[in-house]
Amino acid sequence: MVESSLQYSTTAEIKQAIETNRQTFKSGVTKSFSFRQRQLERLWCLLDDNTDELCQAVAKDLHKHKTETMMEILAAKEEINEALNDFRKWAKDEKVTPALVNRFGTTCYKRKEPKGSVLIISPWNYPVNLAVSPLIGAIAAGCTAIVKPSEVSPHTAKLLTDLYARYLDNSAYTVVNGGVPETTLLLEHKWNHIFYTGNGVVAKIIMRAAAEHFTPVTLELGGKSPAYIDEDANMMVVSRRVAFGKTINAGQTCIAPDYLLMTAKAEEKFIPELKKALGDMFGADIQASKDYGRIINNRQFQRLSKLLNERQSGDIVIGGKLDEKDLFIAPTVLTNVNRDDKIMEDEIFGPILPIIRVTDVDDAIEYINSKDDPLALYIFTDKKKVANKIMDSTRSGGILVNDTLMHVAENSLPFGGIGPSGMGNYHGKNTFDTFTHVRATMVKNLNPLSEHAQAARYAPFSDRNLRI
Ligand code: NAD
Repeated sequence: MVESSLQYSTTAEIKQAIETNRQTFKSGVTKSFSFRQRQLERLWCLLDDNTDELCQAVAKDLHKHKTETMMEILAAKEEINEALNDFRKWAKDEKVTPALVNRFGTTCYKRKEPKGSVLIISPWNYPVNLAVSPLIGAIAAGCTAIVKPSEVSPHTAKLLTDLYARYLDNSAYTVVNGGVPETTLLLEHKWNHIFYTGNGVVAKIIMRAAAEHFTPVTLELGGKSPAYIDEDANMMVVSRRVAFGKTINAGQTCIAPDYLLMTAKAEEKFIPELKKALGDMFGADIQASKDYGRIINNRQFQRLSKLLNERQSGDIVIGGKLDEKDLFIAPTVLTNVNRDDKIMEDEIFGPILPIIRVTDVDDAIEYINSKDDPLALYIFTDKKKVANKIMDSTRSGGILVNDTLMHVAENSLPFGGIGPSGMGNYHGKNTFDTFTHVRATMVKNLNPLSEHAQAARYAPFSDRNLRI
């Protein structure tokens, strides 16, 4: 892999960036609608003018096909378009009707105020979208922001640093680069919001640091997202949609189906169809396919190969090929996996797909509920009763019936986890709301006549004035 020349920010640079960011917010410039509009337009141009460069950088980091990175970019551009169309509407005061006690001479409304100077920390797996998408809402809300891209995808981090510097107002929006020491330094500062995407172990560090300053956090995490497949579902369609969700970015997707739940009868129908679907998508030699990605680095490769090699159960029925030099792991499907196998403990985050055999839908529900609440839950069935039963008896960040991943592209739906899979949500207006403080506002007049209506609350008190 070509070495990037990503420069980590120095302590002095980080302190300066934080100070500038805070002062800019204080100046009030980012609250102006014309400023927000201009910065959103510039962010759109940044993505549009540099699509090829961004695709090349991501390819160096992750061996992703251009189409996959285009999906990241297009999704972000779509979000910017929506924000440009609607942020003025989102930012409008919302009037509410005062209660009886305040009915006369009172106006009540919710003021939408930017939270302030915010920190966005992003991971390596979708290194463009996850560094841009939260920023869209921060700009739309009128905040200033520092973005800390993942050092694990250095080519993309370097390019984003250069592009943010060229396209955006750097007193308000800038990039800080680095690993743990640099991020730790950032976390010592008193932010008005921290938006973190990544793993749960680091999320606890973020939360602890935020607690020092009572800083609100959004945590976009991961987990083991299950997919239940009903035995009467159309397996040709199901297998293609599962293959898509598990092979895009070589399975390194927070909402990739982590494991499948199905009966023995369903498995018999599903496996040949999945083999066919993978063949149709990547040909007979998947390693030679230009459309299949690689594992991000040797550390992740070793973790995944250990998971495969040290499993106590599970027969490989599809795939199984690993090539360390090429960081290649074929989509690998395991059957006869024990429910308490090591592979069923943590998020797999790679192209390995265990199948847990269940006796029926109740058995599947019980298994799902024995684990942490996942980020996504997939249900494949035409039977409304089955889908409703699973939805009613489980919990997850989101639910998608009869597909994988596609709910993430729906900006009108909040995207986020629950419990260990995350806290808070974003996308579209939800991101604007994340970075907005809704300030309860009540305005009364000083008309002496309105004092008659207020008599009951002033001493001397009288029981006669209270009507309960
Ligand atoms: P990563 O290693 O790139 O880490 C994420 C960020 O945390 C980086 O910017 C990194 O510098 C920072 N970081 C790492 N260690 C730190 C520390 N000790 N203190 C402070 N900051 C630190 O990415 P990752 O965590 O390996 O990402 C993969 C995880 O992210 C998976 O669990 C995946 O499910 C989850 N994820 C979630 C979403 C979502 O939207 N919910 C999206 C993508 C990834």
